[in-house]
Amino acid sequence: MQALLRNVFSVLFPSDCRLCDTPLNNISRIPVCPECIAAIAPVREPQCVVCGDRLFSAQLLMGDGQCQNCRDCEPEFARAVSFGEYEGGLRGLVHLLKYQSVLPVAAVLGGMLASAIAELLPGCGDAPPLIVPVPLHKSKRSERGFNQAELIARAAVKRLPQPIELATGVLVRRRATISQVGLSREERIANVSDAFRVRDRRRVQGRTVIVVDDVMTTGTTLSECARVLKQAGAERVWAATVARAFQAAATRQAANHGDEEEIEAVAVTASA
Ligand SMILES: [Zn+2]
Ligand SMILES: [Zn+2]
Repeated sequence: MQALLRNVFSVLFPSDCRLCDTPLNNISRIPVCPECIAAIAPVREPQCVVCGDRLFSAQLLMGDGQCQNCRDCEPEFARAVSFGEYEGGLRGLVHLLKYQSVLPVAAVLGGMLASAIAELLPGCGDAPPLIVPVPLHKSKRSERGFNQAELIARAAVKRLPQPIELATGVLVRRRATISQVGLSREERIANVSDAFRVRDRRRVQGRTVIVVDDVMTTGTTLSECARVLKQAGAERVWAATVARAFQAAATRQAANHGDEEEIEAVAVTASA
């Protein structure tokens, strides 16, 4: 009966995997084949202990486990973790959600975010952390129809081993950030410096806050969120994302894919 249903379904709604174009045989809420999902692996390379960027041998030899960017300019978050590298199938999944509004993909990405968050939990001690998604400006949100960070965060908290509070609306983006192309690192920081505000300080006071987003590129946005949250009284701030665009790989990827947001980010990094 199930096989019959499957065949009827695939005849009525023939579709291919949106990542590899293989015909899909099973009824699934997401238009991606199980092989493509299974091929997405967590990061294995050595990473910066602070921001999670990939470390190269010279940096490893320096011994403190930090990348050059973190040594030059310490981020406001104490630590950032990501599930996987922003490339291949993971990049494809993020794009399906964000730019093609395939909302059920948020459940898959949420599972990955949950494993990144789980890495941070042992450091929380007895104090339960608060999860805060990076907000979109209301103009961007109504244009897209949803905030992908919030959808992924909702899916992630359902998969965590313990109940953790998700706080949407605590952090707001009070203006749409302008293009950062051609700005130096300092100018980029200044550009986002008043972009966020905490609407309800009592919710974050004395808390460990985990700021979550879909992708971390240079980390400027997450760092600014962390600064504002600490100013509002958060005891410490960590960051967790589904994907990390490693800075050495980012230039190549942005050039290949013509991804507007990343080209901006990379242009900024390169000129910093
Ligand atoms: Zn596939
Ligand atoms: Zn770093």
